[in-house]
Amino acid sequence: MTDFIPPSPEELNDKFPNFEVESFIAKGGMGAVYLGRQISLDRPVAIKILPPELSEDKAYLASFESEAKALAKLNHTNLVGIFDFGQLDGMFYIIMEYVPGRSLYYTAHGQAVDELEAGILITDICKGLAHAHEHDILHRDIKPANILIDDEARPMIVDFGLAQPISDNDH
Ligand code: ATP
Repeated sequence: MTDFIPPSPEELNDKFPNFEVESFIAKGGMGAVYLGRQISLDRPVAIKILPPELSEDKAYLASFESEAKALAKLNHTNLVGIFDFGQLDGMFYIIMEYVPGRSLYYTAHGQAVDELEAGILITDICKGLAHAHEHDILHRDIKPANILIDDEARPMIVDFGLAQPISDNDH
């Protein structure tokens, strides 16, 4: 995975006829994320792709698919929404709500966060998680890098790649 070179937005454009892939956002542990535009509705979207070589890897694929399915069950202002999931030329992708802004890891790292602001952020993150739990989904990877802060300072939880349905063994 470390030697995965994410395709350029231009290369991806040929694969996604309904979207304009505008720019590369980040490479994560599982794939790469791009800013795109859904042409029909003229709205920004985030496009996450799994490297083609990993599409053959059952464990990665299962995690990617479980992210898509977990998100599809949820609808909450503090959880990133999903629009589509699929495969094009052997490459799996997730189309999701685009969150303008940076992760809590970047925005708060090494800085004192005002107590009131921290309280509001944590309360909102807990509301998002409570919604997931009400739908029997455990995120299992909550950390500042997976909380994006949008331009109205709203925290949005991303990266449901490790999420799982709650089983009888979870407490
Ligand atoms: P890792 O496993 O390393 O946490 P990953 O491959 O599962 O990463 P994500 O954590 O989902 O990928 O995303 C990687 C980065 O892409 C995020 O830190 C964030 O900067 C950006 N990103 C992810 N989803 C969105 C989104 N919906 N809108 C805007 N940016 C996003």
